[in-house]
Amino acid sequence: MPLRFYNTLSQQVEDFAPARDNTVRMYTCGPTVYSFAHIGNFRTFTFVDILRKCLRANGFKLDHVMNITDVDDKIIRNATAEHKALKDYTAIYTQAFLEDCAALRLERPEHLVPATDHIDDMAAAIERLAATSHTYNTDGSVYFRIATFPGYGKLSHNDFSGNIAGARVDVDEYEKADARDFALWKAPKEGEMFWDTAIGPGRPGWHIECSVMAIKYLGETLDIHAGGIDLVFPHHENEIAQSESLTGKPFSRFWMHAEFLMVEGQKMSKSQGNYFTLRDIIERGYQPEAIRYLLASVPYRKSLNFTFDGLKSAATAILRVRNFKLRLETDKYPDGSNEQLAARTASAAQSFADSLNDDLNTAEALASVFEYVRDANSAMDSGEFRAGNVAAALDFLARFDSIFDVLKPTVQDGQLTDAAVDALIEERTAAKKAKNFARADQIRQQLLEQGIILEDTKSGVRWKRK
Ligand SMILES: [Zn+2]
Repeated sequence: MPLRFYNTLSQQVEDFAPARDNTVRMYTCGPTVYSFAHIGNFRTFTFVDILRKCLRANGFKLDHVMNITDVDDKIIRNATAEHKALKDYTAIYTQAFLEDCAALRLERPEHLVPATDHIDDMAAAIERLAATSHTYNTDGSVYFRIATFPGYGKLSHNDFSGNIAGARVDVDEYEKADARDFALWKAPKEGEMFWDTAIGPGRPGWHIECSVMAIKYLGETLDIHAGGIDLVFPHHENEIAQSESLTGKPFSRFWMHAEFLMVEGQKMSKSQGNYFTLRDIIERGYQPEAIRYLLASVPYRKSLNFTFDGLKSAATAILRVRNFKLRLETDKYPDGSNEQLAARTASAAQSFADSLNDDLNTAEALASVFEYVRDANSAMDSGEFRAGNVAAALDFLARFDSIFDVLKPTVQDGQLTDAAVDALIEERTAAKKAKNFARADQIRQQLLEQGIILEDTKSGVRWKRK
C-alpha cells in the first residue's frame, strides 16, 4: 500500500511523497519550556516520532525542524516570579524536555532550534510584512492585519467572512474561534526583558517564530507541518497567514494533527488531580517503554484515554513480544522450514507495513504483530515451528521494533547492564562446571535481587528482567 496521510488542509486522505530529493522537509511545533511537559504533550511528540520512523521505513530521508519556544507570556511570568534570567530559567526546562524525550526514545529532529536564537530573523520578516502592508503599529507593538490575507481560516475550516473586525489580541494564545489581528512584535513592558532590533525594542509574539524558522531551515514550502490538534487555530492558521504573505507560496503541502489525550476518561487538569508529567508516571514505577507503547498504540487521529490499567496492559503486551523473541533466540527447533508458517510470517509483516502506511494505523499494525505471535507460539508448542522459520520471525520483530522501539528494557540507574548480566551468567556456568555450586547459587541470588530471572533450558541459560 502506498503511504498516505490525512491532510487537515484538504480534509482528505492523500498519497504522500516528498516534493523533492526524496527528502521529507518537516516542521513540528515543539515545547514551550516554562515547566515540565505533561503526557498530553508527549502523546503528540510520540506521534511525531512514529511518523519519522514510518517515513524512513518508506525509504525517505528526513530534514526535520522542531522549535523550542523559550520566550512567551508564561515563561516571562514564571522567570520573573523566580527572579531568574530568562535563559537560566528556560535552560532548566529545555534540559528536562530532552531527558524526557530520551526516556521515551524519541529521536532528536535534525534541527532543534530555540526561538531566542532567531530574534533578528523574526524582526527582518516583520519588516518585510510591514513593507507589503500586512501590519500596523500601535504603541510600539506590531500586529498582523488578517484582513490582508484572504485565505485566513482555510486550515481550521472556519468561515471568518464578516467576522474580521480588526480587533486585536495581545496574549499568545486565544481560545475564541473569532478572527483577531495578532501580535507579531510586542513592545517592552515595565521591568520585562527585551531585544533591541531593527524594528525597535521588544520581543516576538509566539506565532512568528515558527514561520521564520521553518522557512529559514526548510524553504518556502514544507512537505509536512505537524502538531497537536489544539494548535490548528489560532497558531497554525496564523503561521499560514504570515508565511504565505511573506513568500506568496503555499506554506505546507500536508498538515497533520494529533488528537487530545484524556486521563481516566477526563480532560487532564491540575484542579482534577489527574495532571501528570512524564516524571510523575515514571516515579510511580512504570517503565518508560510501557508509556511509549501506550501513547503510540492509539492511532493519532483518535483521542487517547490514558489509564493506569492501560499502562499495565502495555507492559504485559511488551513482555509477550520479548518472551517470544527470547524463545526464538534460545529454543532448538527441528531442521527444515514450514512453508505455511513462512507465508504466515510474510503476510503478517506485509499487513504491519500496510497498516502503518494507512495514515499510521498503529492499532491495526499492533494487532497484526500479536496475532502472529499467538500463531507462532502455538506452532512452537506443537512442534511445527522449524529452524528455517526463525530468521524471518526475528526480522519481523526487528521491523516492529524499528517503529515501536520497546523491546530493549530501560536500564535504570544502578541496574546491571545486559553485558554485565551476560558476564555473571558465564561465570555461573563456569562455577557449575567446576562444581562450585555455592558460587553458582550466589550469582543466581545476586541477579534475582536485581530483578533478573534465570531459566536453565536444554539449549543453555536464558534470562529476563522482571
Ligand atoms: Zn508552531
